[in-house]
Amino acid sequence: MREPVATVVGGGIAGLASAVALAREGWRTTVLERRAGDAEVGAGVAVPGNGLAALHALGLDDECIAEIAHPTTATGFRDTLGRPILLIPDDRAQVRAAVTLLGLYRRRLHAALLRAAEEAGVSVASDARVTGVLPGTPGGDLAQVEWRGGDLAHRTESDLVVGADGMWSAVRTALFPGARPLYSGSTSWRAVVPDTVRDGRLTEYWGPGAEFGTMRVSASEMYWYGYVRAPEGAVVDDEHAMARSRFAQWAPEIGELIADTAPDRLMRHDVYHLPGGLPSYVRGRVAMVGDAAHAALPTMGQGAATALEDGVSVGRLVGGRVARGHDLGSALAEFDAVRRPRCRAIAARAVHMARFGADLGGGWRQSLRNGVLRMVPGEALVRAGFSVTEWTPPSAIGPVPVHA
Ligand SMILES: Cc1cc2nc3c(=O)[nH]c(=O)nc-3n(C[C@H](O)[C@H](O)[C@H](O)COP(=O)(O)OP(=O)(O)OC[C@H]3O[C@@H](n4cnc5c(N)ncnc54)[C@H](O)[C@@H]3O)c2cc1C
Repeated sequence: MREPVATVVGGGIAGLASAVALAREGWRTTVLERRAGDAEVGAGVAVPGNGLAALHALGLDDECIAEIAHPTTATGFRDTLGRPILLIPDDRAQVRAAVTLLGLYRRRLHAALLRAAEEAGVSVASDARVTGVLPGTPGGDLAQVEWRGGDLAHRTESDLVVGADGMWSAVRTALFPGARPLYSGSTSWRAVVPDTVRDGRLTEYWGPGAEFGTMRVSASEMYWYGYVRAPEGAVVDDEHAMARSRFAQWAPEIGELIADTAPDRLMRHDVYHLPGGLPSYVRGRVAMVGDAAHAALPTMGQGAATALEDGVSVGRLVGGRVARGHDLGSALAEFDAVRRPRCRAIAARAVHMARFGADLGGGWRQSLRNGVLRMVPGEALVRAGFSVTEWTPPSAIGPVPVHA
């Protein structure tokens, strides 16, 4: 039997994770990445327990993870002045374990996944922009990917295509033209700042139409984000001055962190999502993963972790099962049945979280929300998060673990 061939469109978190997992199941795997260099854009990313489980399943060991990540814990939510709204108790080992997460500088996560892909024998083509996809049919026509490398047009045939090309996915546009990202109503400043002294635990502050968060991503770097309501595509002359002024009335540590940020290290992106996600994560011989399938609001901090889960799942449930003689159509159907309800539920929670957190208006709404949440025991928050962060990677053989 010939070696099965996979083409992964997009070399971000979901694409590289998918490629590693497929190659480890014996697939000849190529990643087509539009960017010409390795300049992965981004600041920090919080990866909770489910993402860590996925990294382990991709073969990254504790030593490798310790080199790229800063383990820390989530502390809960504070008001604009830093007063507790709902804090997670950190005096119990069991609770601490449940809220432990990895603080990562995105480019280090990306570099580690790229190394894992190369070690697994994946071929990664950069400056390879996908322009069209024909999905083919399981058991029938192969899938075809059209792409441009420099000035040349190419067409690649594969047994399986993974659509991992992010928020503005060309694969999604070709196969699900009705599904388009929607502006969330918020924009987000982000930066990584040199620092060795601040509290590195994930700390989130809520105020009228805004959220500010901080987290350590290495022994010498803090990540922060400032997520605020704003018109789509707003143009700002001086981003640094605008960020300082937007959070000027908030807790002093917030202003200090923004002031310590070199203006050229500050980035801002409008935040989009794909409400409800795709109606199916599968079309013909194509599996959709990551933001291309289910871009969620960042308010649950689950985008990277679910992208990693997707990668492991496509590798094991599709790649692994087909390598063991299952037919592609039923393997893809199982992938869809396992991934879609979980990712949809997480994205719905992110919307809910935004409604009561970052997006909530000012005045009495803030006092009411804060007052009610101050009566909720922190452990309730831990229990609610547990169904998301506890995740067991599926196996290529046998039944699939059931998750919320
Ligand atoms: C403001 C903000 C804050 C966030 N914070 C967090 C956080 O704290 N924790 C968290 O887990 N998640 C966070 N996320 C979400 C997270 O960044 C994404 O969910 C995650 O990056 C999705 O990975 P992906 O691989 O699907 O997409 P991407 O990382 O976007 O990768 C897609 C890749 O496809 C490539 N590509 C695109 N089009 C083509 C094409 N036509 N041909 C070839 N290649 C193509 C791109 O160049 C890119 O490399 C945040 C997102 C935002 C916007």
